[in-house]
Amino acid sequence: MPDVLIIGGGCIGSAAALHLLKRSPGTAVTVLEPDPTYTEAATTHATGGVRQLFTRPENIELSRYTLEVIANWQDYLGLDGTAPDLAWKENGYLFVAPPEHTATFERNFATQVELGVEAEWLDPGELTQRYPFLLTDDLGPAVLSPRDGWLDPHSLLHGLRRAAQRLGAEYRTDRAVDLTVRGGRVEAVQLESGSTIEADWVINAAGVRAPQLAELAGMPVPVDPMPRQEHYVEASGDYTAMPFIKDPYGLAIRSEGEGLSVGLVDFDTPASRELPRDNSHFEERVWPALAHRIPSLDALRLKSTWAGHYDQNRLDGNMIIGNRPGTVDNFLTACGFSGHGLMHAPGVGRALAELIVDGDYTTIDLTRFGYQRIIDEEPYQELGVR
Ligand SMILES: Cc1cc2nc3c(=O)[nH]c(=O)nc-3n(C[C@H](O)[C@H](O)[C@H](O)COP(=O)(O)OP(=O)(O)OC[C@H]3O[C@@H](n4cnc5c(N)ncnc54)[C@H](O)[C@@H]3O)c2cc1C
Repeated sequence: MPDVLIIGGGCIGSAAALHLLKRSPGTAVTVLEPDPTYTEAATTHATGGVRQLFTRPENIELSRYTLEVIANWQDYLGLDGTAPDLAWKENGYLFVAPPEHTATFERNFATQVELGVEAEWLDPGELTQRYPFLLTDDLGPAVLSPRDGWLDPHSLLHGLRRAAQRLGAEYRTDRAVDLTVRGGRVEAVQLESGSTIEADWVINAAGVRAPQLAELAGMPVPVDPMPRQEHYVEASGDYTAMPFIKDPYGLAIRSEGEGLSVGLVDFDTPASRELPRDNSHFEERVWPALAHRIPSLDALRLKSTWAGHYDQNRLDGNMIIGNRPGTVDNFLTACGFSGHGLMHAPGVGRALAELIVDGDYTTIDLTRFGYQRIIDEEPYQELGVR
């Protein structure tokens, strides 16, 4: 019987496995992952962005911890110099917005600086001067965080997974299909293969499938699978030095190899297990928005489109972490990452390990991301760019 059973071996489940074994060597950790190729996981579809430009201290601290992990990647994993290359690009993040968002940007910038984020305020003139390829006529001031950037999600995932395995985590190719809940505890987890596993602790890190499992444990969550497309385009011009650009309407642009990776996140996209298979969203919405912001991209070649799911928390767009106190004490859920899960995986994995080993958070206090706010229907959302 494992001490800890982790359902889902994406970046969150794998980070939890690694941190548990770092904190408490010898813990018997089993990770259930039905798809070792991660075809449907969110992790392998992510853009890889890591930013500190949040407004809630927890999200800022989680991103800063990830930047520490990136800086010490080899030591953090302890894989004797064989960790996969994160391909980290420290090109910064640039938040742009129309002038009517200036007051919000000012307030958020003050919070970010107060919390130690290295951020620069760029007046419209400076913005135009620094990024001449951007159309800035309709923009107010912008905020740049030069220490942020993006990485290769596959390398992050497989680095975490290999490091966890090296410390003893057992990855089992199977799927959790049911839970036996008795006496305020998850007693056993039933698997698709027909077998049953009992564990002292169960971590639910099943991404967009986490809500069904949480429901079985008596903690319904307002999280659903939100389809999200990303596009790779090539065009003339050199964009290799540009930062990751985001605006409050969901446009996200960063350089990628010879071209650009682009998305337009519409948080009103209805939940669906189906993923879009055509390019109509790109042609009708993404390209016009892109060519508006970077006029030279009026001419481009769309080379590929892919889609994955956000596990979108419809209450407030932030993660839900922990148990439902007094209902199922040994069942911890981590879901609802709403597009931020990759960049917060190391800190979330560490937090889950703390809940099990220490009984509470001992580094970053994530209490405000707990289940109580779901019961109370009290959103704790980001203010400004999501
Ligand atoms: C297009 C796109 C772009 C994104 N860009 C970014 C970004 O730039 N930065 C960022 O931080 N985040 C980004 N995200 C979000 C990020 O990818 C997710 O928040 C993160 O990967 C969530 O990780 P996870 O481990 O919870 O989920 P997943 O990666 O989905 O892993 C869950 C795993 O659970 C397994 N599973 C499911 N059901 C069961 C079951 N019943 N039993 C056992 N296992 C099960 C699945 O096979 C899967 O491998 C993006 C997402 C998308 C779709």
